[in-house]
Amino acid sequence: MITPVENADLTALNSFGFASRAQYLFDVASDAELLEAVAYADERQLPFLVIGGGSNLVLDEYIPGVVVRQISGGYRVLEEDEGSVLLEVAAGQNWHQLVEQVVDAGWSGLENMALIPGTVGAAPVQNIGAYGVELKDRFVSLTAYDREKQVFVEFSASQCGFGYRNSVFKSVAPGRYIITRVRLRLNKQFVQKTGYGVLSQYLNGQEVTARSVFDAIVAIRQSKLPDPRDLGNAGSFFENPVVPVEQCEQLRAAHPDLVAYPERDGFMKLAAGWLIDHAGWKGYRTGRVGVYEKQALVLVNYGQGSARELMDLASKIQASVMEKYGVALVPEPRCYPQ
Ligand SMILES: Cc1cc2nc3c(=O)[nH]c(=O)nc-3n(C[C@H](O)[C@H](O)[C@H](O)COP(=O)(O)OP(=O)(O)OC[C@H]3O[C@@H](n4cnc5c(N)ncnc54)[C@H](O)[C@@H]3O)c2cc1C
Repeated sequence: MITPVENADLTALNSFGFASRAQYLFDVASDAELLEAVAYADERQLPFLVIGGGSNLVLDEYIPGVVVRQISGGYRVLEEDEGSVLLEVAAGQNWHQLVEQVVDAGWSGLENMALIPGTVGAAPVQNIGAYGVELKDRFVSLTAYDREKQVFVEFSASQCGFGYRNSVFKSVAPGRYIITRVRLRLNKQFVQKTGYGVLSQYLNGQEVTARSVFDAIVAIRQSKLPDPRDLGNAGSFFENPVVPVEQCEQLRAAHPDLVAYPERDGFMKLAAGWLIDHAGWKGYRTGRVGVYEKQALVLVNYGQGSARELMDLASKIQASVMEKYGVALVPEPRCYPQ
């Protein structure tokens, strides 16, 4: 029988470092403990939040109800053949440590996603991705607890509905499923995915291996993004907006240096950082929150800031980008409570 910590301090459990307290915090180490935490919330009709590393959350100062954190990690090899391994990874596993472990084991496929903070359990929620690779490229299936039907269920890749920073867990049924295990297929031979501009420039002239890509990504990310331990942040705060090609062409006519990439047929993805920067926000500071001076897509907490201050700033940026470019920016992190 596990007992929750009451009025638990979540300040160190969210990468913005916002002072936040949970009514009840459960650290669960097994499926049985997870079910106990769910039952605790359901019997008392309390709100329920699953938290991983808190690196994609904007937490208010008080979180009513039950917050659950899965603390067991590690992986096991389910299948192995000449060319690949199938791993099953526990939800509480730290993502970056997994990436480093598999690179050390000589397996390829995750190295471009080094240094993304957070847990394996959260990775499918927004189909994490970086430097030309997304989780879905390596994903096979997952196990989750369905709070509505009260059973453990399996999801194949197509059932997850992965899209750009999206999945059914984020947009169709947020809060319904608690992901407990994720299965990934990795290659035994190195598969090179280094077409991404800044990555290919960095690797120019070097011998390219999974390890050198991993090291390059770590170095590039450390030079661009603030470490949440030094300056609270959640990485990119807004998704890159996807707009019809015609709208992109109109914007380009007025702003020839606009940064945009082909998305899917008939659509372009605009660099949200460019829009925010050119609307004049880069380095802007208000009170205890602001826009990171080196990367306009990153909002930061200078210390003692609050979720409310940050969301006020985010609204002002959204309004200004809408006014200047007619483009809607959508925040990437989830605000809780909403
Ligand atoms: C410096 C920095 C850089 C970043 N760079 C990137 C990047 O390059 N690419 C990228 O995609 N993201 C990036 N992010 C965002 C973040 O790292 C990812 O979204 C990550 O997957 C969040 O993991 P987490 O464990 O911290 O999730 P949390 O922030 O704790 O939770 C995020 C959401 O997932 C839900 N959730 C968490 N665990 C589970 C579970 N087991 N089952 C069901 N739902 C769950 C939560 O309820 C919440 O809605 C970055 C963040 C930071 C701070």
